[in-house]
Amino acid sequence: MVKPVIVVHGGAWGIPDDQVEDNISGVEAAVKQGWSILQDGGSALDAVVAAVNSMEDNPVFDAGIGSVLTEDGTVEMDALIMDGSSLEAGAVAGLRDVRYPIRLARLVMEQTPHVLMIGEGANRLATEFNVERITQDQLVTDTARKELEEWLKDKRFGETFGHDTVGAVALDSQGNLAAATSTGGVTGKKVGRVGDVPIVGSGGYADNKVGAVSSTGDGEAILKVNLAKRVLSYLDAGLDIQEAAEKALDYMHVRVKGNGGVIAIDTQGNIAHAFTTKRMVWASIKEDKLESGINPT
Ligand code: ASP
Repeated sequence: MVKPVIVVHGGAWGIPDDQVEDNISGVEAAVKQGWSILQDGGSALDAVVAAVNSMEDNPVFDAGIGSVLTEDGTVEMDALIMDGSSLEAGAVAGLRDVRYPIRLARLVMEQTPHVLMIGEGANRLATEFNVERITQDQLVTDTARKELEEWLKDKRFGETFGHDTVGAVALDSQGNLAAATSTGGVTGKKVGRVGDVPIVGSGGYADNKVGAVSSTGDGEAILKVNLAKRVLSYLDAGLDIQEAAEKALDYMHVRVKGNGGVIAIDTQGNIAHAFTTKRMVWASIKEDKLESGINPT
């Protein structure tokens, strides 16, 4: 029996001081949801879904309710899940009315021969599997509206605007790893823009033979360096998990001037959290001990 471990994040960006408390309590609530499943002998997949669902429901985070807005003022959500035991993956992009995007991503993985579904096809699948729907009105918060107003003033992307994507990685008692990431993307994005999150190897990756990673931050930069997979490549090459996480972020910063953060677990249950933004909120539970943080160490 392997000792289970779970780590979650609620996004890497310049989290303002007045949002620190809500961010920390949000990731702590989410990590506990995932942990309760692992503790009962549940799977890493179930644990990451439960943790992400908790943050998709929390308006503090940019996923599900609370998702940030496109330049048109609409919500378009992306999500990815990966099963480290089989390398099966499921992803969705551009969802407009699904309450828990990560659940639809899991259905893509488990119930279809495909990996990534978008638009009309993703919608049909949501209907076919009867997943819970939600209106744009219910998804959009006042904070997201205000943020778009601010963004429209100078239309500059960067750390000041919500990047509070959510993610989770877990190792279960069977030794299986899983990763899940869910997001509304970035404020002011063009309609139809897809970021790193639903792309296997960028927004997340899980492989029982190496480790599991969930990414957050500058999506275009993450895509260019395949951030999640890069962390695991360094790990596979012999670095420890924390070194691998830091080196991958460093590479992204140097090569494409991108900032972001990752959470990761290796096959032994060692964990890493690293970021190059001002803050990243994270929480972990290992051997019944909950830890969380938001500032650089
Ligand atoms: N990576 C996400 C995206 O670009 C944003 C974030 O991490 O908050 O879609």
